[in-house]
Amino acid sequence: MTSYLDYLVQCPLCASWLAGKKPVSETLNHSQLWSDGKSMNEISLVGECEVIRCPACAHDFWADEAKHIESRQAEYHQLVNAENGQLVYSWASWRDFGCNLNVLMGKLALIGHYERLLRKWPGLEMDKVFHLRQWLLWAYNDLIRDLFPSDLSSLMKGNLSLMAWVSNLKINHEARKKFIAMQAEYRENLHALIVLTGQHAVIDPLRLIELYREQGDFMQAKTLAGQETRHTHLVAALRKRISRHDSLVFKVAG
Ligand SMILES: [Zn+2]
Repeated sequence: MTSYLDYLVQCPLCASWLAGKKPVSETLNHSQLWSDGKSMNEISLVGECEVIRCPACAHDFWADEAKHIESRQAEYHQLVNAENGQLVYSWASWRDFGCNLNVLMGKLALIGHYERLLRKWPGLEMDKVFHLRQWLLWAYNDLIRDLFPSDLSSLMKGNLSLMAWVSNLKINHEARKKFIAMQAEYRENLHALIVLTGQHAVIDPLRLIELYREQGDFMQAKTLAGQETRHTHLVAALRKRISRHDSLVFKVAG
């Protein structure tokens, strides 16, 4: 069970307060880990949301450059106390830029936000570009990550009604269609991430193998996987998919 710490972050432009939650590291429960590095717990991505669009004035800012107040500080309780008339924006109003990631339109909107920020901040430092491109990769993969169950056996065994099964098939088909339509942008982002990863000494080599695999460069992915000396579940799973020429994101654990 993961516990969370409540905090407030202040928009540096209009001074609005935004309420958020971050997991406490000692109790962190990684309930899902994906091959592209996305790790999720019960209610959020592991870690704090690092780039925010203010729900009041639409200013984009980095959380680490803004003022923070944690719930253990006295000032926090003065600000969230409704009696003093202070307006605090809820987490749902700004988390993931306010996009609803349970629906396709929300997933597309999130992709749009990261693409927009990369265009808006062309001279950004390398670390921040890396983060934006990493989140953009996760957002593209979200289109096909965890699709609704639509296999025939779920229908035959009675786990799904015919209506639910047909509806799932339709939703999954639309999501896959969008993912295919975005392949040029998806590959361009993977290419940029490969270049950035090469300049980033602290990145695990498995990340690079995964980027080449997702890009469909199975030759390069196979060469790098051949140099890997660790015998882990992830290494075996990557090798299996490289040999099958499978470039899609997959769940590693959870
Ligand atoms: Zn603002």
